[in-house]
Amino acid sequence: MQWETVIGLEIHAQLATKSKIFSGSSTAYGAAPNTQANTIDLGFPGVLPVLNRSAVSMAIRLGLAIEAEIAPRSVFARKNYFYPDLPKGYQISQFELPVVGKGEVELVMGEDDIRVIGVTRAHLEEDAGKSLHEDFHGKTGVDLNRAGTPLLEIVSEPDMRNAKEAVAYAKKIHQIVRYIGICDGNMQEGSFRMDANISVRPKGQEAFGTRAEIKNINSFRFLERAINFEVERQIDVIEGGGTVVQETRLYDADKNETRTMRAKEEANDYRYFPDPDLLPLIIEEQDIEAERSNLPELPDIKRKRFQSDFGLNRYDAAVLTASRVLGDYYETVVKAANGEAKLAANWVMGELSASLNRQGMDIEQSPLSAEQLGGMLLRISDNTISGKIAKQVFEAMWNGEGDADSVIEKQGLKQITDSGAIESIIDDIMAANPGQLQQYRSGKDKLFGFFVGQVMKATQGKANPRQVNELLKSKLAG
Ligand code: ADP
Ligand code: MG
Repeated sequence: MQWETVIGLEIHAQLATKSKIFSGSSTAYGAAPNTQANTIDLGFPGVLPVLNRSAVSMAIRLGLAIEAEIAPRSVFARKNYFYPDLPKGYQISQFELPVVGKGEVELVMGEDDIRVIGVTRAHLEEDAGKSLHEDFHGKTGVDLNRAGTPLLEIVSEPDMRNAKEAVAYAKKIHQIVRYIGICDGNMQEGSFRMDANISVRPKGQEAFGTRAEIKNINSFRFLERAINFEVERQIDVIEGGGTVVQETRLYDADKNETRTMRAKEEANDYRYFPDPDLLPLIIEEQDIEAERSNLPELPDIKRKRFQSDFGLNRYDAAVLTASRVLGDYYETVVKAANGEAKLAANWVMGELSASLNRQGMDIEQSPLSAEQLGGMLLRISDNTISGKIAKQVFEAMWNGEGDADSVIEKQGLKQITDSGAIESIIDDIMAANPGQLQQYRSGKDKLFGFFVGQVMKATQGKANPRQVNELLKSKLAG
């Protein structure tokens, strides 16, 4: 039996507001427990929530970025459940009428492989507090600093068909929220959390299978692994004659497995109802237009511009626009390199990103500035150095030894393009290797490489490779 996987994601993006969604407490991360929770966050009786305008602006921005409908009227609802980190006994969320309706995003999976994934909705809600199980022996602590932090929950259609697509979609949403400045995307601090809904069905069957939901995944790598594990588990269950039950599961990264958290029978009945303390949220056309006029260039637009302005293929353009900082870096390199866009793309995606990866650095932390890299590319394009020597220059610049020109000067790396000089080196080498010369001339063509090697060795790699080839050919021919 062939199986097909169906995946839908719910992503919680913590909005980058200074204060909470319904109170004036700070949202700054890392403060001492319970120092950023006021009477509203603590759920005191008689206090009233006041909606944070900037959280609404951010929801509108997301809506615009995914070309979604933005509801002129949406409603806050109480989601009732009991838990120590939720002192009010309910979470304020949106249920039937969310602020953002249907939208979509485009994933570039490969050069000619574009997938469009539907977004069902996005709604505003408050985060709960945190239970601290590790800090107290035999007891649980409760930190309410996070209670009331604004979240935007972005719910996808069940449009993804494998773990790679789900990861690409999650990265796309991550990219968008960072581009439009509504979420810092910091996954270690929990600013971007994912729930994956997963089911399998026999290939060709239209009806979806029963899904399991894996909660609170905080890395793209774990998302991929959790999905792959869960798909195998469900197939094993079905092929073993069982049925998949609808339930909530947790992913254990140490064991690389998912485990039941609660089954459907234990699922909460949230008894949603409109929150009587909050007016419906009314968004006017002018509010939307104000946000639209403040939007930066969005990732897909930037990608298309990179394709047409710089002649990049779709996939490379997608890589280079992964973040605004990377896009800006690349554009600065191109400018500094006098428009050598292809060369710039090769170096940014090649040597630079490999070096960053090796050191676990983001582009923001690059020890090499875009101007420096561009300056070096200028020296490749005007033939001062070869591409091979450029790696040496790159190394030196990476290690803080200065700009390309000074590295080239100090280390004497200037390419030898004087054909007279190259010819005389060739003459010496031919004289020193009469045996090889004779063999070459009697038909052993492979020895050409040997002579190239000798010239490069004699010039420490600095001879212009094209010239070496041409001159060697004619000289060896005799
Ligand atoms: P709930 O109200 O229980 O949260 P939703 O209908 O809101 O359920 O769906 C939650 C998420 O689950 C959405 O992202 C949706 O795309 C996804 N989903 C729904 N049904 C399936 C299914 N059979 N397989 C995989 N994902 C699904
Ligand atoms: Mg849901």
